Amino acid sequence: MLFDTHCHLTHAPLMQQLPRILAEAAAAEVTHFLVPGTTPNDWDSILKLAQQYDAIYAALGLHPWFVCEHHLAQALTTLNQRLIAHPQLWVGEIGLDFMRATSSEAQQQQIDAFEAQLQLAQAHQRCVVIHNVHASSACLSSIKRCHFTQGGFAHAFSGSLEEAQEWVKCGFKIGMGSLLLKPNARKIRRIATELPLSSMVLETDAPYMSPEPNHPNHPRNTQSVAKVLAELKQTNWHTIAQATSTNAFNLLQRT
Ligand SMILES: [Zn+2]
Repeated sequence: MLFDTHCHLTHAPLMQQLPRILAEAAAAEVTHFLVPGTTPNDWDSILKLAQQYDAIYAALGLHPWFVCEHHLAQALTTLNQRLIAHPQLWVGEIGLDFMRATSSEAQQQQIDAFEAQLQLAQAHQRCVVIHNVHASSACLSSIKRCHFTQGGFAHAFSGSLEEAQEWVKCGFKIGMGSLLLKPNARKIRRIATELPLSSMVLETDAPYMSPEPNHPNHPRNTQSVAKVLAELKQTNWHTIAQATSTNAFNLLQRT
């Protein structure tokens, strides 16, 4: 079995054809999913999905791209209520994207929302799903400043090997996903080769980050990621599947 630790099943076009998508994923042995939220607008549909399917886990959070469009205090109040009501719920996806936010004001707005959500996750002892683009050191500073110790998944990791090792030290598993499918993605392939399997989880970010142009990404591609990782680690993909799923379950069962 394979665990897609990051896919937006409630987003178009996946949601409209979910039974078919889940059947196709199952045919590729992708049977478990973590669905992260991006804005309060998708939180209720994610919770409903997680209640409907045992193999779908949920995280709710305000994504750094959307912090400027939402009232933070209001979002935090709702998030707090959802965390109280759902003891298995994670917080995510949250984080920093300094490719999007280039001014210091915009970066500070992302940092404020990120740290407020980290504090909430810490207070409820929940893991988090992190979106980090060009902001590893700022993310890790926030994690330390908030005394956040619950760990989680560093999704679609694109930093250096040294940064990946820092994330692992802070209790995170590194999300290996569609970036690995690009033959010229040397940095992430080096991380995949050097980092122990015990520090990794698999993901697709479906319907986004598609390996095929003009086609939405599909959670069944978790198997393709496992196969590339198996080649790099000189093992078979079933070994990769088992180890990365166990890593995901170890964190999910702790909450
Ligand atoms: Zn995502």
